Amino acid sequence: MHRIVILGAGYAGVMSAVITAARTKRRDDVRITLVNATERFTERLRLHQTASGQEVADLRIPELLKDTGVEFVRGWVTGIDAAAHTVRVDDEQVLEYDTLVYALGGVADTAAVPGADDHAHTLNSRREAELLARRLADAGTRTVAVCGSGLTGVEAAAEIAEQHPELGVVLLGRQEPGATLGVKAKAYLDASLERLGVEVRSGVEIGKVLPDSVELVGGESVAADVVLWTSGVRVSPLAAAAGLEVDGNGRIVTDAALRSVSHPEIYAVGDAALIRQGYGVLHGTCQSGMPTGVHAAESIVRELRGKRPKPFRFGYYHTPVSLGRHDAVVQFTRPDSSPRSFLLTGRRAVWYKETVTSSPWPTYRRLMSMPGMGSVWPRGGRFTR
Ligand SMILES: Cc1cc2nc3c(=O)[nH]c(=O)nc-3n(C[C@H](O)[C@H](O)[C@H](O)COP(=O)(O)OP(=O)(O)OC[C@H]3O[C@@H](n4cnc5c(N)ncnc54)[C@H](O)[C@@H]3O)c2cc1C
Repeated sequence: MHRIVILGAGYAGVMSAVITAARTKRRDDVRITLVNATERFTERLRLHQTASGQEVADLRIPELLKDTGVEFVRGWVTGIDAAAHTVRVDDEQVLEYDTLVYALGGVADTAAVPGADDHAHTLNSRREAELLARRLADAGTRTVAVCGSGLTGVEAAAEIAEQHPELGVVLLGRQEPGATLGVKAKAYLDASLERLGVEVRSGVEIGKVLPDSVELVGGESVAADVVLWTSGVRVSPLAAAAGLEVDGNGRIVTDAALRSVSHPEIYAVGDAALIRQGYGVLHGTCQSGMPTGVHAAESIVRELRGKRPKPFRFGYYHTPVSLGRHDAVVQFTRPDSSPRSFLLTGRRAVWYKETVTSSPWPTYRRLMSMPGMGSVWPRGGRFTR
């Protein structure tokens, strides 16, 4: 019996589970276990919607896995013993593995500045997003500071401003919002934020988060009843604690086939992995995370058949950005994520973005019934160097 344990049922982990299950359907010598903190699938791409008070679909992981043979374990992974090939769940259950897929994702880095951990809200989980939703709906809340002007910060600021026009929303960060987009897409995004009434303060360095304000380096204070922290990425310390080779951010360093360079029986996928391509290191997105899940599954199946895994190749093809529910901008990109000239704006972009956001769940279902699809589907728009 070959025991495959997959840690984390986010976009990348569910993809690995679904494809591995589909591709080993006829084998009775493979056991697959998927471990996740919650039974409900967290659509991270919609957490800014949850935070601004919207209801999103209740997607249940055990329902998706029904009849696939994959065992689902709900629990918090508390330790990995890489020498003994075991995983501890909730400090009580021990799971043994022959192959491990590490897909625990990442969260915003609230350790980056003093006070963020104690006073700022995050979009790190559905629970956190719901907590923020309650604060935003509170009668005492007048002003919100969104810290981090990357795309998560932009989407959150726009969504909050649209759903809560009574609130003053300020977006704070080093970079200009939409800095990675092309000139036209950035101009569109800037105009949308202005229309929604979001005050943009870019080029600022955040020094401290206090209960009622954000202090900038240099001493200026920005008053805020509620602070949302979206900046940076922090990953689980479990991989480093287990002795796996990790980078400065704690991500597992992978080889060309997405195996840990120090522990090749462990595949690392999604935001928790450091993955290099010819053009550089992948930045954490669902767009690249799902293909990494596919690749790990395909590689495991190849290894079970005595073959060597192939190198992972991925190229980006778009950057879709929601600007509330009625506006969006989609920048089409080259494989290295630099902008092409083509973009969508307004209603067509809203439709495109919504189609992309809602596609993972039906895709998982389809892949289970058409297992061959995994090997041809999501490698990105183009093969890269
Ligand atoms: C508001 C927002 C909007 C975004 N929009 C986009 C977008 O438009 N396009 C895009 O490509 N990307 C977007 N992203 C980024 C995208 O969500 C991530 O890159 C993606 O979720 C990474 O997938 P993953 O499977 O690696 O991790 P996740 O989806 O985070 O899944 C990790 C899973 O592991 C579980 N887990 C973690 N630790 C433990 C533990 N110790 N024990 C048990 N379970 C654990 C978590 O509960 C979770 O279910 C957005 C992110 C946010 C926050």
